[in-house]
Amino acid sequence: MAIETLQDLYVEELKDIYSAEQQILKALPKMVAGANHNNLKRAFEEHLEVTRGQVQRLETIFAEMDEKPTGKKCKGMEGLLEEGSELLKEEGDPDVKDAGLIGAAQKVEHYEIAAYGTARNMALQLGLESHAELLQQTLDEEGETDKILTGLAEGGVNKDALIGRRNS
Ligand code: FE
Ligand code: FE
Repeated sequence: MAIETLQDLYVEELKDIYSAEQQILKALPKMVAGANHNNLKRAFEEHLEVTRGQVQRLETIFAEMDEKPTGKKCKGMEGLLEEGSELLKEEGDPDVKDAGLIGAAQKVEHYEIAAYGTARNMALQLGLESHAELLQQTLDEEGETDKILTGLAEGGVNKDALIGRRNS
């Protein structure tokens, strides 16, 4: 479709985000299974729950506009998740891999933070206050997840990675 108006661009942006979230829903269970630290597993599990709610918010927005969320693939997220899945397949020290998984997950969160920030600003520009509010809620959750991941890295995972199972 042609992108003539800010509204067109907004819908395209939201479709991209919707595709990204769908891909994340599929990837998170693999991250849970691949993580070694229990608190990292739990963080991924919790984010899976949170992500389901985020998808619902997007569906609410699409329904309000009488648009379908499908028809676009987020290639950025596909690439980020591909990097994560390569890491999961690597052999190696499980604590070192956890440090890598946190980094991979934070790249995903930062992509989402950029995308939701953009979409929220477009919604405000278009006078779609209720959309902006929903998108802000998700933006806050992504930011919170990013902080939790930083906390896990600083709170022990990186140190465990430094010590390494094999050297201890
Ligand atoms: Fe999300
Ligand atoms: Fe997220």
